Amino acid sequence: MKNNTAEHIDLDTYRHSASHIMACAVKRLFPEAKMAIGPSIEDGFYYDFDVPRSFAPEDLEKIEAEMARIVKENVPFERQEMDRDEASRFFASRGESYKVELIADLPDQKVTIYKNGDFVDLCRGPHVSSTGQLKQYKLLSVAGAYWRGDEKKKMLQRIYGTAFHDKQALDGYLHKLEEAKKRDHRKLGKELDLFSMHEEGGAGLIYWHPKGAKIRNAIETFWRELHYQNGYDIVYIPHIAKVDLWKKSGHWDFYQENLYSPMDIDGQQYIVKPMNCPGHILMYKTQLRSYRDLPIRWGELGTVYRYEKSGVLHGMMRVRGFTQDDAHIFCRPDQLKDEITSVVKLAQYMMQLFGFAYEVALSTRPEKFVGSEENWERATTALKDALDTLGVPYSVDPGAGVFYGPKIDVKMIDAIGRGWQGPTIQVDFNLPQRFDVTYIGEDGKEHQAVMVHRTVLGSMERFIGVLIEHYAGDFPLWLAPVQVKILPISDNQKVYAEQICDILRKHAVTAVVDGRNEKIGFKIREAEVEKVPYALIVGAKEVEQQGVSVRRRKKGDLGFMKLDDCVNRIAEEIQKKS
Ligand SMILES: [Zn+2]
Ligand SMILES: [Zn+2]
Repeated sequence: MKNNTAEHIDLDTYRHSASHIMACAVKRLFPEAKMAIGPSIEDGFYYDFDVPRSFAPEDLEKIEAEMARIVKENVPFERQEMDRDEASRFFASRGESYKVELIADLPDQKVTIYKNGDFVDLCRGPHVSSTGQLKQYKLLSVAGAYWRGDEKKKMLQRIYGTAFHDKQALDGYLHKLEEAKKRDHRKLGKELDLFSMHEEGGAGLIYWHPKGAKIRNAIETFWRELHYQNGYDIVYIPHIAKVDLWKKSGHWDFYQENLYSPMDIDGQQYIVKPMNCPGHILMYKTQLRSYRDLPIRWGELGTVYRYEKSGVLHGMMRVRGFTQDDAHIFCRPDQLKDEITSVVKLAQYMMQLFGFAYEVALSTRPEKFVGSEENWERATTALKDALDTLGVPYSVDPGAGVFYGPKIDVKMIDAIGRGWQGPTIQVDFNLPQRFDVTYIGEDGKEHQAVMVHRTVLGSMERFIGVLIEHYAGDFPLWLAPVQVKILPISDNQKVYAEQICDILRKHAVTAVVDGRNEKIGFKIREAEVEKVPYALIVGAKEVEQQGVSVRRRKKGDLGFMKLDDCVNRIAEEIQKKS
């Protein structure tokens, strides 16, 4: 039985009750508002209303004040069963046409309603026992939302709010929201001149400015080196391929809603690639492969294009064109465990390098699947064994694998505790079968190869979007778009400053000279605001002694250094990725 004292009410029930109280307040203030749905969600609750005009921020304040009154009235939540026809007539009589539509879709003869005072809602419950139990809540924002998420249906007004059992938790959450707002990669991307998106160019497409491209290039260069070191080769494939290839791969049939329309080239139909896999398979099949040739690991920073509904596009996090840090491993079944282990290690290394905590989930065989049960068992065991061998804690999502194979998903946890989709490792039995991807075994016979799809970052767009928020735009030296600013005190040191800049650039350090006629204090502060890791100040003394005065971001004044020592120090620090 549910114990209804404040600390025992589960958060979902508490928040769902808050959504009823909010809807009750809205109906008192805006009697013409029609109610749609109002569930509890991960971080709070929302309610959708059909209202003649959009809610403004002042409306939220009024609604919150009215909620306080309803809480004070402390009226009980009452559950009542109703015959569905009766319920339908009841809500129709109150003008609640969305509720009538919802009832029409309910399977049962009986429906339940919940009342508090004269407010009545179609609802499965449960709820807190009375409105007075709601203590800590806050309305957060308003957004447009289509009825039933369908773009062809009416746009409703969704009010988001949150509620917690105690003030500390609520304040903590509101603080985190503030922090997330400050770190928003769209805002920082503009302020730091990293990237842009253009209505004229099309939605969901990212334009990388020099500074954003600098970050991406640092990561991509490092990614390539790391993959060569780990026994991968790097390949490139074209961005378009014939529709027939996608029919053979199955994407044409199973992935249609994410594909762009074909274009005609010499009477043949082509599409832009949504995936890199079939391209890598074509190359694999250019030779007869022996068991001794395996594993073959081919990596590609492969750009793909997938259709996403405009409503779900979000800055760099959800886009229509993106570059995956993709790789495909072709191996024998007996090599699977070792291969998976290496990929997990690589993913762990990436998470540690960029300072992410992470959570790992293993998804097993769903009801509909291709390949034999034996193969699935073998692959799932390989994934589990790899995680166990490495001592990586993980949760199991039974039946959540894709139809073609089991997978490991890594969720990156950022500096303020938010989770983001990160590395994935996926075993595939489908494509090797469809494309007849084989090798000649020790027995001289042909065997089907196992294929692993994997990314250890995700995509450049999403990963760097997350990085911007994770670091709050304050990048470590090796990723900083401007690593060093050289600040001459007067015009007399400008030539010397330019010389230092040249030397640094030859050591692959991104440096610029701030040669403006501004006070040195002003230039130092500006470098600080731009989050530049190193500021090198040069005056008469520095020229004479062939050195620099060094300021390191977050460490302050490091004093005088000989030029060579300073250049070496910076180059070394970049090399170490600290
Ligand atoms: Zn309800
Ligand atoms: Zn793939």
